[in-house]
Amino acid sequence: MITELISVGTEILLGNIVNTNSAYLSEKCAQLGLSVYYQTVVGDNETRMKSTICTALERSDMVILTGGLGPTKDDLTKEVTAELLELPLVEDAHTRELLEHYLKEYEKNNSQRRITANNYKQALVPQGALILDNHNGTAPGLIIEKNGKTVILLPGPPNEMKPMFEEEVFPYLRKRLPEVIYSQMIKICGIGESQVAEEIQDLIDDQTNPTIAPYAKTGEVHLRITAKSEDEKECKKLIKPIVRELKARFGKNIFATDEEKSLEEAIVDMLKDQGLTLALAESCTGGEISARIVNVPGASDVFTHGFVTYSNRAKRKCLGVKKSTLKIDGPVSAKCAKEMAKGGCFFSGADICLSITGLAGPGGGTKELPVGTVFMGCCYNGKVITQEYHFTGNRSKIREQATAHALALLRECIMEGISKKG
Ligand code: ATP
Ligand code: MG
Repeated sequence: MITELISVGTEILLGNIVNTNSAYLSEKCAQLGLSVYYQTVVGDNETRMKSTICTALERSDMVILTGGLGPTKDDLTKEVTAELLELPLVEDAHTRELLEHYLKEYEKNNSQRRITANNYKQALVPQGALILDNHNGTAPGLIIEKNGKTVILLPGPPNEMKPMFEEEVFPYLRKRLPEVIYSQMIKICGIGESQVAEEIQDLIDDQTNPTIAPYAKTGEVHLRITAKSEDEKECKKLIKPIVRELKARFGKNIFATDEEKSLEEAIVDMLKDQGLTLALAESCTGGEISARIVNVPGASDVFTHGFVTYSNRAKRKCLGVKKSTLKIDGPVSAKCAKEMAKGGCFFSGADICLSITGLAGPGGGTKELPVGTVFMGCCYNGKVITQEYHFTGNRSKIREQATAHALALLRECIMEGISKKG
């Protein structure tokens, strides 16, 4: 079903607010198997809104609009849509009742504010529309079916729109769609996007149902496998052999098969399972790796220390990096990373320490040591490994990549240590 999203609001066109509604709705539509071919933004202008909705109705089966359902004069979405669909606006008694109740409560809590008559225009609905109660605001949502087209009107504020979509629109659409969509996520780290793409090219070339959609995040590649069928059980059956194949191809590099699981969460889980503790010794990432780890609830069970040793002195005093190392090899060197990792384990008493030191730029690079050079070390089971990386981009991009790759390296070291132990 060809679907179009229209976000209404001059403030979006001016860049005053970010259009998060469209991002959210696109994702939900993809989950439902709806084909979103167009996303449009139009200001609060009657003429342009009319032509935008007309165009959408010509080229799409379903149009979802957000914004402009409120009480003020520039909130025109419902009026314009009703006019185009030739539906009169009639007062809905239930919506009026909810509105009065909401406004009375509001007046009680905000004695300074006066309720104005224009609020009641929100109880007017296009005749025959399905009304979606708004439990978080005043404007109801609306679903209109006419001439084989579906038009859905939702309030602009995300905290009103999202629960309304989740609770009412999503189940409504799911019931109407002949097929069920089910997807499974495979999250990969430690291999680049192009390598992953090359390794699954044959699967992508042959795909019909299920389909594999890869997308890259810094340091990670996510593969979404999506199947369409009459029920979820059948979808799972279709997905199973593909997941098995992907597991065979990417094995240890798969860190999650759960949509919600992050790389840092997978690491914290591994540490917990093995009863291991972790310390981090960071220079160029300035605590970013630690911040990712403490994003995980319950990280305190495994994470003991985060050393941010930015200066040479701090590397020496807090981690015991040798003066000679800093002088001869320099702070951005494999030797320094090695001593940082070792010192991190020693001073924290943690089982594992990952260290990182590098040159994020923009200044300070040389021919021998260009900007983007990063060394990482990992000390575990009394053994220290080091690795050299070369990242590109600006300062924040380099630090972001360094953080992502550090987490991937950490995961790999924990796994290898485990296999050696076991
Ligand atoms: P209200 O009753 O609050 O006026 P409304 O349905 O008329 O709701 P708008 O007036 O268009 O909606 O937008 C109200 C607020 O909702 C905006 O100021 C903005 O904060 C948020 N909003 C609107 N559209 C979007 C969008 N596409 N993405 C993110 N936020 C949005
Ligand atoms: Mg408004």
